[in-house]
Amino acid sequence: MPFTPFHFGITLLLFAVLPFLDPLSLFVGAVIPDIEGITIVFIFPYSGLPLHGPFHSFLGAIVLGVITGGTSYLFLKHSGLRNILDETLSMSFTLKKSIASALLGTFSHIILDAPLYRDMSPFWPLTGNLFLNVVSPFTPYLICVISFITGLAILLIRFRHSEQFINRLNFTNSVSRLNWRFVTSFFLIMFVVIGGAAVSLFFLFQENENFSGTLLINKQPQFEVGQKFFYRTNNISVGFSEYYYAEDIFTVNGTREINGPEYYEVIRNYSFHFIEDHVIYGITDDVSNLVENFYYNVENGTCIGKTVNPGSYSNEDSYATDVAFFAPWMLGLEENLKWEMNDEDSYRSYKSKVLGREKVSSISCFKVKMQVFYKGNLREVRNYWIDCERRIMIEEEVLGRFGVDHYKYLVET
Ligand SMILES: [Zn+2]
Repeated sequence: MPFTPFHFGITLLLFAVLPFLDPLSLFVGAVIPDIEGITIVFIFPYSGLPLHGPFHSFLGAIVLGVITGGTSYLFLKHSGLRNILDETLSMSFTLKKSIASALLGTFSHIILDAPLYRDMSPFWPLTGNLFLNVVSPFTPYLICVISFITGLAILLIRFRHSEQFINRLNFTNSVSRLNWRFVTSFFLIMFVVIGGAAVSLFFLFQENENFSGTLLINKQPQFEVGQKFFYRTNNISVGFSEYYYAEDIFTVNGTREINGPEYYEVIRNYSFHFIEDHVIYGITDDVSNLVENFYYNVENGTCIGKTVNPGSYSNEDSYATDVAFFAPWMLGLEENLKWEMNDEDSYRSYKSKVLGREKVSSISCFKVKMQVFYKGNLREVRNYWIDCERRIMIEEEVLGRFGVDHYKYLVET
C-alpha cells in the first residue's frame, strides 16, 4: 500500500507509448486494487485478513478491470469528455478500449506487487505466491521511477512537436462544454455509495460483546521437571526483507519454595536467527542471550513474574500473556467462556473468548481470541490454540493493524 502512488509511473509510460489508450481507465485501473488494503486497514483492522487478498490476483484484476473500464467509459461518454478528447486530441474511445486499458492497469498492478508481498496469491483461489522475491524488493520501485521519468519525457516531447494539439486545445472552452450536471451527480453517487458501504461495514463489524464471564481454574499445571517446550516463529519481516525467525525454549528446571508456596522454575531461552544475506542492519550473528526465569505456582499456575535474579521479580504483566507457552488463564478455559483481565501495573487489559475447539496437528485445542488493550486502546489481537489436556500453547497468531504480524508454534516437547 505505501507503494500505491508508484503504480502511476508504469501507466504514464504505457500511455506515452500507447497514446490511443483510455488514460482514465488505465490510471484508475493501476491503483484500484489497493482499495482492498485500505478497506482492511480502516474498516477491519486486526482482523488478520490479508491486505493483498483476492483483488490482488489475476482473477481479481479481471473483475476490477471490467468494472473500472465500464465505469470509465460511461463517465467519458456522459460527461462529454469523450467528444472533447476526440475533437482536440483525435482520441476515440470505445467500451472495449476502455476495458482493455483498465485491464492493462490492473494487471500491471498485480505484476508489480507480486514479488513484494507474502500475503498475495496471484493465482487466487489457489493460494501461495510463486513470484515472491523473484526480484529484489527494490526492483519494482526502480521500474516505477524509471517508467515515470521516461513516460513523462516522451509525453513532453510529443506535446512539444504537436502545435496542432496546443492550438486546438482550448481549456476554457472544453471546461464549459463538460456536462457538469452529470459530473457532479457521478461523484456524488460514488461518494454516497462508497462512503455508505464503508460506514455500514464499520458498524456491522463492531463488537459489542459482554466479557463478564468468570475464569475458574479447572486444571492444574502439568509440568515435569526436565521437560522442554520448544517453539519457533515464522520468518519475521523488517521493511521488505524477511529478516529473522525466533526460537523460544522453555525448560522446567525444578521446583522451589518462595515465601511458602511451591513454584515451578521455568527457564526461557529466546534466540533470534538471522536469515542468510539480509545483513542490511549490520548484524550477522545469531543472538541468543535472552534468558529469563519464570515461577509458576504448582497448584494454580499463578505467575509471580519473570526475573534473572530469583531475589527480585519484575511483575510487569501478572498474566504473563506475552510468554505464550503457558499462562495461568489457560487453566480456566471452557467452551463459550468470555472474560476480561486487567493488569493495572502494565496499563494493559485483555478481553478474551473461547471460540471453540480445533485440532492442531491432531492435538485437540481450545481456540482463544484475545484482544490486547494498552491504556484502553486496542493494540493487537492474538489467537491462541491451547492444548485442552496439557493447557500449554500449541500455536499463537498475533494480528496487528496491518494483518498477521507473526505466529509461533510448538515444534516439540
Ligand atoms: Zn497493491
